[in-house]
Amino acid sequence: MSRRPEYSGRLFYLSFILLHQPPLHFANSQLLTANCLLHLTFAAVKANEKYQVVIGLEVHAQLLTKSKLFCGDSAAFSTDPNTHISPVTLAHPGTLPKMNAKAIEYAIKLGLALNCEIEQHNYFARKNYFYPDLPKGYQVSQHTTPICKNGFVPVKVDNTSRNIRLNRIHIEEDAGKSLHDVDENYTAIDLNRAGVPLLEIVSEPDMHSSDEAFAYITELRKLVTWLGICDGNMEEGSMRCDANISIRPKGDTKLGTRVEVKNLNSIRNVKRAIDVEVERLISLVDNGKPIIQETRSYDADTNNTFSLRTKEDADDYRYFPEPDLSPFYITDDYLLEIKNQLPVLPVALKQRYINDYKLSDYDATVLCDDKTQAAYFEEVIKHTNNYKAVANWMLGPVKSYLNENNLSYATFNLPAEKLALLVGLVDAGKINFGNASSKVLPALLLQPQKEPLQIATDLNLLQESDSGSIEQWVVEVITAMPDKVKQYQSGKKGLIGLFAGEVKRRSKGKADMQLVNEMLEKKLNN
Ligand code: ADP
Ligand code: MG
Repeated sequence: MSRRPEYSGRLFYLSFILLHQPPLHFANSQLLTANCLLHLTFAAVKANEKYQVVIGLEVHAQLLTKSKLFCGDSAAFSTDPNTHISPVTLAHPGTLPKMNAKAIEYAIKLGLALNCEIEQHNYFARKNYFYPDLPKGYQVSQHTTPICKNGFVPVKVDNTSRNIRLNRIHIEEDAGKSLHDVDENYTAIDLNRAGVPLLEIVSEPDMHSSDEAFAYITELRKLVTWLGICDGNMEEGSMRCDANISIRPKGDTKLGTRVEVKNLNSIRNVKRAIDVEVERLISLVDNGKPIIQETRSYDADTNNTFSLRTKEDADDYRYFPEPDLSPFYITDDYLLEIKNQLPVLPVALKQRYINDYKLSDYDATVLCDDKTQAAYFEEVIKHTNNYKAVANWMLGPVKSYLNENNLSYATFNLPAEKLALLVGLVDAGKINFGNASSKVLPALLLQPQKEPLQIATDLNLLQESDSGSIEQWVVEVITAMPDKVKQYQSGKKGLIGLFAGEVKRRSKGKADMQLVNEMLEKKLNN
């Protein structure tokens, strides 16, 4: 059976179904010339004054449980296809599902963090449909009793804060993966992912711009990673988003016909896809053409959407309660236990940074974008009280280093104390910030066990604060530039920068610039 050695034996080839990628029905706009597109964009901007955009997002978050939702198979990602597949995953006759309690715990955590009501009486339901990567022929999901209801996600766009209401969060199992590009003639199926627990987070149609959608999903991603329930990696598919989009005349309360856009594999693409789709919808309506309720796919390379299938009626999944799993009840005690386990959430932590450490709203917000980053900040400030400087270092040179090397604070190997020492050296005027960030920090990162002071000494970067030598450089500079001195004395005070720069150059960047400026002023104004 096997045609490729790397998929030896265990991969299923479906020779009886030819699952090609869906036919591409290109939207008219895709064929337009650049000129027309420009015109379209302009028209869209104008038309936007007439219409309100309405967006509802469905986000699937893969839970970081060790095993799958209903069996002991590993839920971890694997590049080796069909290796995490016991008979339960394969839906062999006679196998029975067993609930993974961790998935319930994670769902409740997210629900509480998003201000939801937690449903205490729960049951699972079968959602029946045929798909080659769905071995059972149905997906076990929650139907009438999503575990979390209502709630909201706070977002801030252009300095305006809004709460985007949630409709529900429910637990369900993932399907396997159909791979269309492994073989020319066949579609291959990898069932590693089948049965992995997901949370489906469904918003109300409450967002009115792609920026709000961007902020919403950024916030959700931050929260699931903060809680440690999902790795939030959209590129790898552990967080997936479908965007439902419609437009309606401004002032209307009735929802317009929606389209659903799938395959949005980054937060940026969610925004881009919404933008092009809104543009398309507006041009349809403006040209008197109907909007068809359909599912569309987004192609990031061409920045266009194309139709996958129309969706005129609600799908009939013939839901019924899953007979192999007993309903479950979440007790008050259990809810309380989980509430007590919740970490301080980013919103509260940010407020603490503003109140206790007098950080700016911006610094506090960015520090709290990521839990490991906030944790590192707290480690550093155990060793220094210059909170603002620590924030500057962490969000400036250290962050640049991490980004450039594709690293994060989660794996950052510089002991927090060393960064505090570096902050201290700058504060004490032993070394200037420029040298500290561009020379000492890189050296320290290569040898984190070394003392920053030692590195600065070895690199000959300690500042000259000896007033004798500084005076000597200052006198040299003033003597060398008599014309400029005259100009300065007749009012061109900005020249002080030129003199200071010259002193800095003569000192090879080691002069304590505060002292230099003081001394220059004194001498020039005498
Ligand atoms: P389905 O599961 O068939 O996609 P749902 O009723 O669960 O349908 O809705 C899915 C998402 O679509 C929700 O986030 C909802 O807010 C959003 N939605 C529904 N109607 C509209 C609309 N007219 N415009 C924009 N979003 C919508
Ligand atoms: Mg949907």
